[in-house]
Amino acid sequence: MTKVAVVTGSNKGIGLAIVRALCKQYEGEVYLTARDTGRGEEAVKTLNAEGLKPKFQQLDINDLNSITRAAAFFKDKYGGVDVLINNAAIAFKVADTTPFAVQAEVTLQTNFFATRDMLIHFMPLIKPGGRVVNVSSFVGVNTLKKCSEALQARFRSEDITEDELVGLMKRFVEKTKTGQHKEDGWPETAYGVSKTGLTTLSMILARRLSKERPHDNILLNACCPGWVRTDMAGDKAPKSPDEGAITPVYLALLPPGAKEPHGCFVSEKEVHPW
Ligand code: NDP
Repeated sequence: MTKVAVVTGSNKGIGLAIVRALCKQYEGEVYLTARDTGRGEEAVKTLNAEGLKPKFQQLDINDLNSITRAAAFFKDKYGGVDVLINNAAIAFKVADTTPFAVQAEVTLQTNFFATRDMLIHFMPLIKPGGRVVNVSSFVGVNTLKKCSEALQARFRSEDITEDELVGLMKRFVEKTKTGQHKEDGWPETAYGVSKTGLTTLSMILARRLSKERPHDNILLNACCPGWVRTDMAGDKAPKSPDEGAITPVYLALLPPGAKEPHGCFVSEKEVHPW
């Protein structure tokens, strides 16, 4: 059956560059997805003008109907998904004056809870030999180091469950509403906490894959693309989007039979301690 790769939030930035690279390197069909169909179709045209032929599927990770519609589509048309790259995310600008509690709720909703919804609905579709890449950030590593010792121990533990992690992410959001997040052990960064959560979730899901589907050779990792010139990071970042795509694409294309990395945080194609 035809192989298929799906990239969330790929109408611009690093996601678009990932689709570009996959169109050149992946032996299968590549789906550019976007929450807004107009922006998605424009992005497809941009790649068409470069001689590349991605396909398009509407996918808003904050909309459960959109997720389940897309999941049903890939199941019907391809019998599942071979490569999933969870790239979509948001970040408030440093200068944004939106109250921190609102920033926390909105940021955690997309970057952690909606990405988790994607994983809930797409993990059962991942085929043997599949690759799952969660685009996290080094900011999540630095944020981990700024958490209380007790929180750090939980995020690093091998026995943290998905439910416990979800509870911790909800607790952060709740504590910001009363301004008690600092005394509860959290640093002042919603984006950072969302990425600490996503990296921890990646490790939990990788352990679960190893346990529940030990013979399927699926590799799941979190990664940092580096500091990349996009609408999110601004124009002073050193890397181009195509350079930012290198590590996510490397993880997406780990050769058949590879056993590692799996359940790791990867940056510049190398595993980093968590
Ligand atoms: P951009 O802001 O340029 O692009 C983000 C993409 O995500 C856009 O296509 C956006 O769509 C999409 N998106 C946002 N919310 C949703 C949603 N609910 N459903 C579907 N798509 C959505 O960011 P980058 O390209 O810089 O970031 C890509 C990834 O890399 C993110 O996970 C980010 O956290 C991570 N990262 C980036 C770094 C950098 O330096 N740029 C550094 C470390 C990590 P729309 O156009 O509709 O808003």
